[in-house]
Amino acid sequence: MLSGRSFVAWVVLSAAALGGCAGAPRGIIGELPTESIIITRRRPVRPPRRVVKPPAAFPADWLKTATQRPWRWIVVHHSASESGSAATFDKWHRARGWDELGYHFVIDNGRGGPDGLVEVGARWRKQKWGAHCKTPDNRYNDFGIGICLVGDFTKAPPTPAQLASLRTLVAVLSDRFSIPSARVIGHGQAPGVNTACPGTFLSRHLHGTLCPYLTRRAQLARR
Ligand SMILES: [Zn+2]
Repeated sequence: MLSGRSFVAWVVLSAAALGGCAGAPRGIIGELPTESIIITRRRPVRPPRRVVKPPAAFPADWLKTATQRPWRWIVVHHSASESGSAATFDKWHRARGWDELGYHFVIDNGRGGPDGLVEVGARWRKQKWGAHCKTPDNRYNDFGIGICLVGDFTKAPPTPAQLASLRTLVAVLSDRFSIPSARVIGHGQAPGVNTACPGTFLSRHLHGTLCPYLTRRAQLARR
């Protein structure tokens, strides 16, 4: 028996043989067996909604470090620039008199580095305190992992590839350092910090999508 799709293909071919679509006899669709109509109209079957763990084969680089610092927060930033990469921001930060790139990770957007690429900063490999979120007690620099997504998210959202990489990276780091979703924050959420970073579009994603995902994932892991 012809499947729904091949039956439709057969009808189209038959119609073409009869003089093309414009010349196809009227009512040919009406002659389709009812079963075929039902099959062709069926909506694509979606798999049940599940929260999945990050791929087992995530890049080993993400967690390859000498010793581990007791990280307690993950602080998400935007670069506030349309383009850039870890190398670009390393130069900018050094020009400001900092020791090196202030973030631990940079997620590229295709303008300076491949879209969605996670760049592992030199600080991370050394497990060095961050230089990305200054507060009076400096806790977010001392024990906060700084992740910067390239882009200005006051104006436009991150790319889907960036968001997918952010989700996987944050899930891997949360697991490794037992960081709950409540401690995954945007830069501007740190007490006493007055900044638009990481921009409305990314902040909305953090609160509305990423943190609920992490919470749900943690709940499933406890079952
Ligand atoms: Zn920031």
